[in-house]
Amino acid sequence: MRNNKLGKAKRSALLVFLLVAGLGGGPLSGTWVSAGELGAEPVPKGAQKDIQKDAQTEANERPQRLAVIIDDFGNKMGGTEEMLRLPVKLTVAVMPFLPTTREDATRAHEMGHDVLVHLPMEPKRGRPEWLGPGAIISGMSDEEVRLKVEQAIENVPFAKGINNHMGSKITGDQRIMSVILDVCRERGLFFVDSRTNYRSVAGELSQNKGLPNLENDIFLDDVHSTRHISGQLKKAEELLEKKRACIAIGHVGVGGKLTAQTIKQHIPRLQARGVKFIGISELAHEQVSPGSGPGHPFTLP
Ligand SMILES: [Zn+2]
Repeated sequence: MRNNKLGKAKRSALLVFLLVAGLGGGPLSGTWVSAGELGAEPVPKGAQKDIQKDAQTEANERPQRLAVIIDDFGNKMGGTEEMLRLPVKLTVAVMPFLPTTREDATRAHEMGHDVLVHLPMEPKRGRPEWLGPGAIISGMSDEEVRLKVEQAIENVPFAKGINNHMGSKITGDQRIMSVILDVCRERGLFFVDSRTNYRSVAGELSQNKGLPNLENDIFLDDVHSTRHISGQLKKAEELLEKKRACIAIGHVGVGGKLTAQTIKQHIPRLQARGVKFIGISELAHEQVSPGSGPGHPFTLP
């Protein structure tokens, strides 16, 4: 009996020893990997160029297109400058009737970005003061809605389309969305649904009216952290494996600088993978053949 117990104790000790040795192996093997990497032969300069060329050829053959829309411009929002200066084409959504509405829209256009009217629309929940001036409210008559949309378009120079600021209530409202889309049609503009309401009627109505059907695929910065934004960009990349074109929305404002910085960090990697940054109007044009849809022929400028 006694011997047997001792044997058990010895076996346990051996097991503990093996476990500790095993744990210790982690960092050690890490060191060996580093040493191996240090010893790796550098890639000759010519070969490096070939690799780059191959990646470039592949990118041109099968471009995966990412349309990044940045919302909430027009009120000297945080990160405005950083966003506009990103070295890729963006879509800049500017709110109407605010102190820097015209300035932001004009600068975005001059810097080669697409411009949208970021039209405030009533949400199901949320404070009315977050809406901003010129908002579309559910109690408005058709005429009032029409007037507000026309005034907003006139207030944001160079706009190629409209997307919604908030608007979970209005994008589900057949009557009001129909008026908004009619104005879009008359002006040669398109509507991009930010998808704040999964029961939105904007897509189906757009299609019925012969307008492009465009909607947000993913919000990039609903949480203000580098980790989250990076994660969302990775998700957009995964979506691109399936659909070749993806629409993502970020924001200027409290987290604007962080969003701009994080997008900037990911640009070289995304481009090397063959992702092309495009303006939203490229996707709109693709969906509209001149004269398509019912009624008067609709063409985008
Ligand atoms: Zn917004």
